[in-house]
Amino acid sequence: QNAGDYALEACNLGKSFGGFDAVKGVNLKVRRGSVHALIGPNGAGKTTCFNLLTKTLTPTTGKVLLDGKDITHLRTSEVARLGLVRSFQISATFPHLTCLENVRVALQSGHGKSFRFWSPISSVEPLNGQAMDLLEQVGLAESAALTATELSYGKKRALEIATTLALEPRVMLLDEPTAGMGHEDIAPITELIRKVSAGRTTLIVEHNLSVVSNLCERITVLQHGEVLVEGTYDEVSRNEEVITAYMGG
Ligand code: ADP
Repeated sequence: QNAGDYALEACNLGKSFGGFDAVKGVNLKVRRGSVHALIGPNGAGKTTCFNLLTKTLTPTTGKVLLDGKDITHLRTSEVARLGLVRSFQISATFPHLTCLENVRVALQSGHGKSFRFWSPISSVEPLNGQAMDLLEQVGLAESAALTATELSYGKKRALEIATTLALEPRVMLLDEPTAGMGHEDIAPITELIRKVSAGRTTLIVEHNLSVVSNLCERITVLQHGEVLVEGTYDEVSRNEEVITAYMGG
């Protein structure tokens, strides 16, 4: 294995908030083309890690590498331009715009333009085709004219994925994509993530262990801001410490 095998790496990553170490010396290697999960109990440091990886937070120690390139000192917007995109945050949806408009705005921002709801039709029209393609990919073609608020919870999540894809991520970070979902929505969103992660690298924070076992080649378990164990689902779920700490004994 060489450095080129990994799309995203955290080396000795740490973050302290006023003397409290939320993340301590985390090493994480996300293999190119894989779906990798970050799991752990509440307060383990998952969100802080995500914020450090996308440069929403500046680390106290360590480095973040994207394709082997040190991105520790870049801004979130610069990192996004390099293809590292976090869903459900950068690409938050606008509730009163239609699905088509939401994806079009994301496409406009991805093209380095500012949000312009008042753009002349001639400049917006070419993006409609691209936006429709993305809506089709996430199964929302028939909902194109509905506003985001009119969508079911599961479909809202699908729309958020479409707006994330509009930014053409090579490395995609998904923050609890099935959080708050009923059983009936979990299977379709899992399949959607499987589909859209093809040809990309995906890191996912996910509480639902059946989704993790279904989707993820490798899993990193965090506890008290540190990596407890890293491995396949089978390896991780057999680990005594994980069973006690995370799966509740
Ligand atoms: P998780 O996402 O795994 O639930 P977090 O990354 O949100 O964990 O939090 C890890 C720890 O860091 C928690 O104890 C939390 O209270 C603390 N923490 C997170 N953000 C801050 C902050 N901005 N200031 C102080 N403490 C924080």
